[in-house]
Amino acid sequence: MTSLNGLTYQVRTFGCQMNKHDSERIDGMLEALGALASDDVEKAEVVIFMTCCVREAADVRLLGQVASLKGSGKLIAVGGCIGQRDGARLLEKAPHVDVVFGTHNIAHLPALLAAALEGHGAQVEVLDGSEKSAAPSAMALPSRREHSWHAWLPIMTGCDNYCSYCVVPFVRGRERSRPLEEIRDEVRRLVDEGVQEITLLGQNVNSYGRDLYGSPRFAEVLREVGASGIARLRFVTSHPKDLSDDTIAAFAETPAIMPQLHLPVQSGSDAILAAMNRHYTAAHYLELVEKLRVACKAAGKDVALSTDLIVGFPGEREEDFEATLALVRAVGFAQAFTFIYSRREGTPAAALEDTSPRELIQGRFDSLVELVQKSAWEQNQKELGAVLPVLFEGSSKRDARVLVGRSPKNQTVHAPLSEGQSVENFVGCLGTVRIEEARTWYLRGLLVQT
Ligand code: SAH
Ligand code: SF4
Repeated sequence: MTSLNGLTYQVRTFGCQMNKHDSERIDGMLEALGALASDDVEKAEVVIFMTCCVREAADVRLLGQVASLKGSGKLIAVGGCIGQRDGARLLEKAPHVDVVFGTHNIAHLPALLAAALEGHGAQVEVLDGSEKSAAPSAMALPSRREHSWHAWLPIMTGCDNYCSYCVVPFVRGRERSRPLEEIRDEVRRLVDEGVQEITLLGQNVNSYGRDLYGSPRFAEVLREVGASGIARLRFVTSHPKDLSDDTIAAFAETPAIMPQLHLPVQSGSDAILAAMNRHYTAAHYLELVEKLRVACKAAGKDVALSTDLIVGFPGEREEDFEATLALVRAVGFAQAFTFIYSRREGTPAAALEDTSPRELIQGRFDSLVELVQKSAWEQNQKELGAVLPVLFEGSSKRDARVLVGRSPKNQTVHAPLSEGQSVENFVGCLGTVRIEEARTWYLRGLLVQT
C-alpha cells in the first residue's frame, strides 16, 4: 500500500456529534500513519468530507463545497451519511470525487486513499450495516481528540426507531452497542490521561445494551462511568419513550452527571407525534420532565432541559403548532434546536402529502424561535448571583482577554482575565465564576479566587 507518510489532509465535518467523533477517529488513524492534518485548504493534498444527510441543506452544502474543489488537483474523499446513502451514485453528481466511503468502514479509509493515490481510479466502498467489516469497528479505533480535556465516547451506533421523517436508521444501520468491558477500559484510559469531561454518544443511548444483553443497561453505564473519577459526564441523545425510571434515578443520584439533559420532543401535538412514529404523547413527555425534576430536586440538582423541535411536518395544522408552543412554554427549555421539516427520500414521511405554504411554515418557525429564545433568556436569569464551577475552553473570539467556558448546565460562561493571568493556565481546568450578567446565549461573571 502506498505510504501516507507526510501526506497533508483536511477533514471537513458536517452534522452531529457522531460525525465529529468519526472525524477524530480519522485524524487518529491518519496521523498514526504519518499523515499531517492541515487547517489550510491550500496546503492540503487530500480533503475528506464527513457528511450529514438529515436535512436537505446539508446535501446542498456538500455539493457546493465539492464543486469548488474541482480542478484543484486535490484528492477528494466523501464519507459519513451521504457516502453511505449514495455510494457510487455520488459520482454521477460529482464525477471528480476520488473516494466514497460509508459509515461502517471508516477503518478502510487509509487503504482507499492509498489506492486512489496509486491511480487505480475512483474508490467506492460502502458496507451494509449487517456485513462484518474485516476492519475493527469504528467505535474502537484510536482517535485524536480535538481537546485534551474532553472526550466523545460512542457507546452505541445506529438506530432502530424509524421516526417517520428520519434518514438516520437507513444510513447508520441498526442499533449496535459496544460491550461494557470495552467502555470501562476506554473510560479508565481517558481518566488516566487527565480528561475532565466525557460525553457518551449514541443516537438513542437509553436503549444501550438491548442488542447485546437483551435489555437496556444504560443506567448501569451512567453509574459506572460516573464513579470512574471523571469530573463531568454528559450524554446524547435520549429518546423520551426509552427514558426509564432507573435512568432518571441514576441521572439524579450520580454527582458527576451534569444537570443538563437533551430530550428531543419534536412536537407538542399528539397527532403529529403519532404521525412521526415517536411512541409518546405530549402528556407523557411532561410527566417525564416532572419525574426528572422531582428526582433531581431530591438529590440537590436543578436540571436544565434542551430539546429538538420540527416545524412543518406534513399535515401540521395551526392547532398542532399551538400545541408545540404550549409545550415549550410548559417545560421552560434552556435551549432548543429548531428545524423546518425537510423531506427525505426513502423515509415513510416522504410519501405524505405536504401542502402547507412555505411562508406559513416559515412564520411558525420564526415565532417558535422567538419563544425558545425568550425561554433561554428566562432560564439564564436564574443564574444571576450564582457561583458556578466552569470548565474553561479558551478565550472569546471577540476579546482574547475574556475566558470562555461551560457551566454544569452547559451554558456558555464568559469571565475577563485580570492583569497577569493568562488563558493557557485556565484552558481545560475547572474554575469558579460569580455570575453578574445573564443574556440569551451566555452568562458573564467574575473569576472567584479559590
Ligand atoms: N437520534 C437523535 C438525533 C437525530 S437527528 C434524536 O433522536 O434526537 C437530530 C435532529 O434532527 C432530530 O432530533 C430532529 O429534530 C431533526 N431531524 C431529523 N430528521 C429531520 C428531517 N427530515 N427534517 C427536519 N429535521 C429533522
Ligand atoms: Fe432519527 Fe428518530 Fe432514530 Fe433519532 S430516534 S436518529 S430522530 S429515527
